[in-house]
Amino acid sequence: LLAEAARVRPSGTALIDTALAGTEAKDTYTWAEFDAAVNGQARRFAEAGLRQGDRAAVQLPTSAAFAVTFFAVVRAGGIAVPVSPQAPAPEIETVLSHSGATLLITAGEGLGDVQKLEPGFDAGESVPAVGAGEDIAVLSYTSGTTGPPRGVMLSHRALLANVSQLRQVRPPTLESGDRALLAIPLFHVYGLGPGLLLATATGATVVLAPRFDARQTLGHCAEHRITALPGVPAMYAEFAALPPDELGEGLSTVGKLTSGAAPLHPKVLAAIRQATGVGVYEGYGLTETAPVVTSTLVTGYPKPGSVGRPLPGVELRLVEPDGDSEPVLLDPDELDDTFEEEVGGTGLVAVRGANLFSGYWPDGAHGPDGEGWFRTGDVGYLDVDGDLHLVDRANDLIIVNGFNVYPHEVETAVGELPEVAEAAVVGVLDERSGEAVKAVVVPVDGASLSEQQVVDHCATRLAGYKVPRTVEFVTELPHSPTGKLRRVRLR
Ligand code: ATP
Repeated sequence: LLAEAARVRPSGTALIDTALAGTEAKDTYTWAEFDAAVNGQARRFAEAGLRQGDRAAVQLPTSAAFAVTFFAVVRAGGIAVPVSPQAPAPEIETVLSHSGATLLITAGEGLGDVQKLEPGFDAGESVPAVGAGEDIAVLSYTSGTTGPPRGVMLSHRALLANVSQLRQVRPPTLESGDRALLAIPLFHVYGLGPGLLLATATGATVVLAPRFDARQTLGHCAEHRITALPGVPAMYAEFAALPPDELGEGLSTVGKLTSGAAPLHPKVLAAIRQATGVGVYEGYGLTETAPVVTSTLVTGYPKPGSVGRPLPGVELRLVEPDGDSEPVLLDPDELDDTFEEEVGGTGLVAVRGANLFSGYWPDGAHGPDGEGWFRTGDVGYLDVDGDLHLVDRANDLIIVNGFNVYPHEVETAVGELPEVAEAAVVGVLDERSGEAVKAVVVPVDGASLSEQQVVDHCATRLAGYKVPRTVEFVTELPHSPTGKLRRVRLR
């Protein structure tokens, strides 16, 4: 991918590292320089003993150093194991020992050290080990929102397939001439695939920021005339809290706002649209699907509460949670508008396509089934248009007196209150009902909100058994690096 980019547009701008602007370190790379830097680094890794199939852990912030190091590991034939720079020591140790990594590339603490990682350049021949096809390129440990970390094996085939599926979306999600700001983690496959790899395939310039700060991000957008911003809901929630004029002004060049990794609250979507005149396109994906499955970009219009339709080349089915992979519902293509809003009930989302992972490390266990389907663990339904709505993760289901309650529905209702900045809902043990619904709420700065107000609002929106029995107010909720709620920790 990168060698081709360097061949067809050698002098186009590939990378701009905002953290290195004004320092002596190199902050801007053309595609030819990026490719030569990767060659130089790949040779060093090969000289250091990295062989085909060896795991190399890459623990770097979103930076040019990450981009060069990642491609260099893969070009040397290795398997990149991305690790969060913020990961606590025991988590790093688990990943290193579980993956059997023989090399760790890290910046230590703080970004200052990244400057010391300036790569050697080598415009000569590539090292000969480059993997392809079914060879594993990335071993990605999921953030463990629902349990212990698992190593997802992503082949060259899977990662390139998702890039090509994304490129078939019209209008294009990213194209030559675009300038994409990546302020999301590159160690997560969201930043890596639809961010770095898609840009490399299309020729979009990648502007890299090590962390997200709402005002600083607006500054980067203005300075670099950013046209595309892949984000996560936590980012958009922070944007939505800014004065609308400031937000509209700051994002005035950005026509493509996208969100993924966690549910985007319709309240936030509306606030962004009002301030900018642009809607946020929502996508849905998993590490196991390398990563994008559906997007509202496929239909061309953001739709509150929906994650859109499958990318071209990705098949989606809703299946019985405990059954085989036979569909419980009709194919979206067979739908017409005689159906009710929620077509035929809910099912577990199953996915098939060339973008699927090769199972979990080390033995490929629990990969796609014999017919190529992967059951995601997410529950959803299709609306009349055939657009997917996610209900929640099957594992997060709360059972109250035998009735199913999905936290997401309750969280959406609580989040409608203007005084609520963020809400999380968990099941707590209850002597009478088995489990009871508990809401944990972060109020907007300076707002006053009572437990009764939350309960009363929910009672107007939800069936009685779904209304929170108790409400607790906190200043902060636990999140993963992509801003996902860590429900297990919260519980
Ligand atoms: P683990 O699988 O260990 O719990 P994780 O869930 O954070 O970790 P990822 O692969 O990063 O691992 O996350 C995939 C999950 O994120 C999906 O299964 C889905 O539950 C959730 N998700 C992704 N996009 C969206 C979205 N647009 N709306 C709601 N949920 C989403």
